Amino acid sequence: MKIAIDGPAGAGKSTLARRLAEKLNYIYIDTGAMYRALTWEALRKEININNATIMAELARTTDIHFMINSSQRVICNGIDITEQIRTPEVTLAVSQVAAHREVRELMVSKQQQMAQAVSVVMDGRDIGECVMPDADYKFYITASIKERTRRRAAELKANGYEASEQNISKEIQDRDYNDTHRTTGALKVLKDSIIIDTSNLTIDEALNTLLEIIER
Ligand code: C5P
Repeated sequence: MKIAIDGPAGAGKSTLARRLAEKLNYIYIDTGAMYRALTWEALRKEININNATIMAELARTTDIHFMINSSQRVICNGIDITEQIRTPEVTLAVSQVAAHREVRELMVSKQQQMAQAVSVVMDGRDIGECVMPDADYKFYITASIKERTRRRAAELKANGYEASEQNISKEIQDRDYNDTHRTTGALKVLKDSIIIDTSNLTIDEALNTLLEIIER
């Protein structure tokens, strides 16, 4: 069974996807973490993230994988960078990195290998369209910009970062703009997407909505 979860930034996709995978005993793959890891590596090496050729070469030579400990860890060239990839610097730059066609081709191919022969829940932006077009379910998880801003602010605060709601809202909208306007793998609602608006749902309610659809 393959379950694709796409949607805009801050809609609660990752939490939902992880909880769904736990409940069903499937593997959870956070594809955003892979683009974030590559962005972290580029920033660390002070590479010009807008240079498509250099970024494609970096993507080819950077080993990014997941390790399951008590939680899922992101490993980049042997270093555990699970926390580092959530910093505001990475968040600000990641959608520029993810816009490069060659970077996307490499990532999609790695993600397709990961999805082979196992039951997976995978979340991202292009999962239903590019990574697993044959997915059994394609969910499009969204929420109002006000609610997404509120959630992101709470998440940042919990991790020790301060940011105004105005700045957070702008960052989310800029990222959504980049993610929906690029030429390959753009975020979009598909013909077979099941749209779930989580604005007025708790995480448990959203999870139950997904489970009811799958069990039905
Ligand atoms: O899911 P998350 O918000 O962590 O993703 C970070 C960024 O990675 C997104 O804003 C997007 O630019 C990129 N991404 C992507 N395709 C995916 C997953 C993430 O382009 N499948």
